[in-house]
Amino acid sequence: MKKPEVLIVGAGIAGPALAYWLSRNGYRPTVVEHARQLRSGGSAIVVKGPAIPVADRMGILPELRGLATRNRSLALLDPGGRRILRLPLASDGAPTVEVTRADLSEVLHQAAQTEADFLFDDTVTALDQDGGGVDVTFRRSAPRRFDLVVGADGMHSTVRRLVFGPERQFAGDLGLYGATVPLEPDAVEDPSEMTMLTVPNRMLVLHPSRTTPLAIFTFRAAQPALHDRKNIALHKQTVAEAYADVRWRAPELVAAFLDHPAPYFDPLTTVRVPSWSRGRVVLLGDAAAATALLGDGSSMAMTGAYALAEELAAHPGEHARAFAAYESRLRREVGPRQRRVGLLSRLMVPRTRPGLTVRNAVGRAVGLTHRSRSSARQGAAGDHTPGTRR
Ligand SMILES: Cc1cc2nc3c(=O)[nH]c(=O)nc-3n(C[C@H](O)[C@H](O)[C@H](O)COP(=O)(O)OP(=O)(O)OC[C@H]3O[C@@H](n4cnc5c(N)ncnc54)[C@H](O)[C@@H]3O)c2cc1C
Repeated sequence: MKKPEVLIVGAGIAGPALAYWLSRNGYRPTVVEHARQLRSGGSAIVVKGPAIPVADRMGILPELRGLATRNRSLALLDPGGRRILRLPLASDGAPTVEVTRADLSEVLHQAAQTEADFLFDDTVTALDQDGGGVDVTFRRSAPRRFDLVVGADGMHSTVRRLVFGPERQFAGDLGLYGATVPLEPDAVEDPSEMTMLTVPNRMLVLHPSRTTPLAIFTFRAAQPALHDRKNIALHKQTVAEAYADVRWRAPELVAAFLDHPAPYFDPLTTVRVPSWSRGRVVLLGDAAAATALLGDGSSMAMTGAYALAEELAAHPGEHARAFAAYESRLRREVGPRQRRVGLLSRLMVPRTRPGLTVRNAVGRAVGLTHRSRSSARQGAAGDHTPGTRR
């Protein structure tokens, strides 16, 4: 019997994970990615929660552990750059792995590349569906008909725009921007500690990694023009202006941002789409439900990919039922996370000095709770606590 053909748009995190699982479940996936190669850049992310068993079943967990950053603590600095608090980053006992987004994307792609056809440097320009399939027009490749199409093309999804409507209908602006730039390996003294300086409306993080530390800028700004993702000059100018009066290592880190040809820059938005499927087209990962700021996007993308492939396998020939079952499963995961984003953004990047004091007090309380939980666990489990961060 002919395997159903599925076009997956986007080879970030969700796309390759879905390609792997669809192929294992009797489908023939093709992945189209508009970049010329896998995209690097972005912060380190933590694979956690329901994504851990997904990575385990894919057999990639040992590799991810080998690539894990050695980041074990977070130092909070006062505006003058003096350390005020050190928080352990080990989890509450559940397994987690922190890797760079680029490493996770690469490992998922390696797992999927023998399971699917990958078309780089191409994208979809039109999707016309009828009862039997979807006619897809590509920018470069010849038009083709697929049984199903999945939009795994991230926060600014083209599939969502073509089939569901313009981005402004679904994207909620948090008024915050995120920007990152890779640094030289010696930019970080202690590879096991992440350092964070916060002043009202601006946060600057120095994030260690196995090979390439990152500077992460998270700040408030109100400039609609910043949503133009191609205007790199404006992104650079905005970061330079936002951090002009910030002390500590800000001048040097801003200089690295200005020197980089294409640093990562994006408004932090929350994507909420009322229904994730229309006919034979379905959304996955950030395209369906981005949880900006929480750093959960990659874990949700992997979890969603697994659930979608599993539901399609459980409902052969009944994509509508499969899509509904997948959406109901995933909404239980992403719904509570999205509801926390507003509060978290105000807590992470306070607007005022009193807000900063509250944030630090919460940090202290979390640190103390964590320490008492860890001691209780160690008392019960000896000196080996399974699943703590490497
Ligand atoms: C380069 C990069 C850096 C990032 N850095 C951060 C970060 O620092 N912090 C953070 O919280 N999140 C970051 N993200 C978002 C984070 O990766 C996602 O939240 C998470 O991985 C969800 O995965 P996803 O596969 O749904 O989306 P993504 O990881 O965004 O992957 C989407 C993929 O689709 C591709 N794509 C987009 N449009 C099209 C199109 N029209 N046709 C074909 N392909 C298309 C993109 O190039 C990308 O490869 C970054 C994303 C990228 C692409």
